[in-house]
Amino acid sequence: MAAGIPGVGPSLPPSLKAGLTHARSVWWRVRSRGRLDTSGLRILFYHRVSDDDDPLAVSPRRFRQEMELLAAEGFRVVGLSEAVARLEAGERASRTIALNFDDGFRDVGENALPVLEWLGFRATVFVPTGVIDGTASFPWYSRQPEMFDWEEILELDQAGTLRFEAHSVSHPNLLLLTNAESHREIADSKLDLEDRLGRSVEAFCYPAGLFGERERRFVAETGYRLAVSCEPGVNIPGTDRFSLRRRQIDPRDWQLDFRAKVGGGHDTPLPLRGFYRRVRYGEHSSPGNGNALRPSPN
Ligand SMILES: [Zn+2]
Repeated sequence: MAAGIPGVGPSLPPSLKAGLTHARSVWWRVRSRGRLDTSGLRILFYHRVSDDDDPLAVSPRRFRQEMELLAAEGFRVVGLSEAVARLEAGERASRTIALNFDDGFRDVGENALPVLEWLGFRATVFVPTGVIDGTASFPWYSRQPEMFDWEEILELDQAGTLRFEAHSVSHPNLLLLTNAESHREIADSKLDLEDRLGRSVEAFCYPAGLFGERERRFVAETGYRLAVSCEPGVNIPGTDRFSLRRRQIDPRDWQLDFRAKVGGGHDTPLPLRGFYRRVRYGEHSSPGNGNALRPSPN
């Protein structure tokens, strides 16, 4: 893990993040007595599902427990497009979760997919097309884990449990690019992926959740229907569909943390996160927060 690279890898240092997360979950349990707030759509995102020692890898065992918890609590776990269509129809999408896997690591197919199939869940995988092509790579790995290849992506997309959507071409910090470069990352990844999948691509995921009004506009203009940020919170009818809120699930999360993330205990950013991202990425403000988003209802 190369900290300080101006690429877009994991955010807060893992041990600090875990400590803050646990404290907040304990506080959530005190306030809520552990009762889940199931109103609205919450989107959970993962990267890898693997036993590798990687701050982006949740173990297969832990992942299965987390999915079983969702099933036991009666959540509908649906694709992103379906969930957002429900919001747009004015439904509150209660007890609904959308699952995302960012970046397109092959271990998601090996370790997460069987669990999803077994439970009848669906999920969205966001892939940077250049990284899949091998023309770009993630700067935070000295040895990059295996990615899905195009043949697997097409086959899995057609099988239906996983749906593949766009995550730029080279996974840059879009905020640091020129207008033309930023537009190209957003537009070309849609065209590349549509060409590969033979269907229209609807969703965009801002790399590391870094975006501004410019990127939001490009995403809307190039024909995407929706885009996801890394700003936490619940999505309800009226939430800006080009900066949907999501919460990351981390390898160090306790079961209590997972419950709290699902149940409304982590709907705002961790303390220090904004400061850390400003220092690391040069974000001037929290770009996900400036438009039609409404605060969480709880
Ligand atoms: Zn990513």
